Amino acid sequence: MKRWGITGGVILAGDKVIPDGGIGIEGERIVRVASSSGIKKEFEETVDAGGRLILPGIVNFHHHLYSSLAPGIGTESPMRNFREILENLWWRLDRVLDEETIYYSALNGILQGVKSGVTTIFDHHASMGYVKGSLSIIEEVLKKAGIKGVLCFETSDRGNVEEHIAENIEFFEKHRDDRYIKGVFGLHANFTLSEKTLDRISKERQEKMPIHIHCGEDRIDLEYAFEKGYRGILHRLHSHGLLDERSILAHCIHLSEWDYRILEDKKPIVVSNPHSNLNNRVGLINRDRIKEFVLGTDGFGSSVVLSLKALYLSGKGKDEDPSELYNIFFKRSAQVLNKFFPDTGEIKEGNLADIVVFDYIPASIPETPESIIYHLIFGLIPESSYITISNGRIIYREGEFTFLNGNDMINIRKAAKKLKSLLYRDGG
Ligand SMILES: [Zn+2]
Repeated sequence: MKRWGITGGVILAGDKVIPDGGIGIEGERIVRVASSSGIKKEFEETVDAGGRLILPGIVNFHHHLYSSLAPGIGTESPMRNFREILENLWWRLDRVLDEETIYYSALNGILQGVKSGVTTIFDHHASMGYVKGSLSIIEEVLKKAGIKGVLCFETSDRGNVEEHIAENIEFFEKHRDDRYIKGVFGLHANFTLSEKTLDRISKERQEKMPIHIHCGEDRIDLEYAFEKGYRGILHRLHSHGLLDERSILAHCIHLSEWDYRILEDKKPIVVSNPHSNLNNRVGLINRDRIKEFVLGTDGFGSSVVLSLKALYLSGKGKDEDPSELYNIFFKRSAQVLNKFFPDTGEIKEGNLADIVVFDYIPASIPETPESIIYHLIFGLIPESSYITISNGRIIYREGEFTFLNGNDMINIRKAAKKLKSLLYRDGG
């Protein structure tokens, strides 16, 4: 088993900052966290971090890899509100995706993630014209990169519900014992799911299969729940027996009073995506009501550090309490990640070695773990990993991905061109 170490970094190890620290890795696990000199003594082969900041691998808790080829493709149709953004851009795009464009969208998004220090992605996938086997295509790319993923298909009455349900359940079953890839039950959003479909999902969903759904992203989602006779969105999901501590609820912006109560009682996983929310002009999570949440990018790039910056800038700014952000970005993230992958989320002995060395040398050594937040917000460039390590393997180092094949970058370009032509053939 390969034994090697990283030395000379400012490491966040659990809740401690080690100013001149090192990490010993054996196989896929961290076996030692110590001073730089300690690691040098114990491990023959070491990589010098040169004073850079070393953090646990970053987790993107809500992503849409299928959207990664979209920048620059554009649309000529109006996008004046949330519904038009969906109908005229994303729902057109997800109808024309095929095997090739799904693969290279995933690859492009994963490359951006790895460059941003991401080692786990919770993806919410939609390709309405290519359902069966779509999640296995994304899995193939995750495995090629060597990172972890939690995948699902966005079940929606927009498409063939039967196929969507089957894709979710088959993928979940196949990955029950997989240590790196998991399946959950994907639902697009309350407002694109009829009562009949929700009834069916609650019958067919496997035991202990969590859901991943957009929840209250726009006001229309809440109004739809009221129209159906419920006291809110969470009330509707709960009435169908779909909520538990591992349910993944993206956004949670427009909720009813009743919903907040269910949230406090059921404690599902809330994922905020602030820069996506600012882009769509849908409002922001109420942080006075929801304290425990984690961050995603919602397909707006792949950098979760950028989400943290957006959260800071759109929230209390200079009056922010760094310990709250520290809790969101590190502690709650590790806690949630462990619900899906045990022994992850922190740099500590025995955990899987998911580590990012950012290309950032803190001029002032953080004296408390909370002060790392200020380095992330004011100092660090979001897509600036120096070395990304996943499951003990270096997958990115100094600008080079270790898992790419010769034509991958050319093929990403080709796939983007193809996607654009498919989109415009479908009406632009
Ligand atoms: Zn989303």
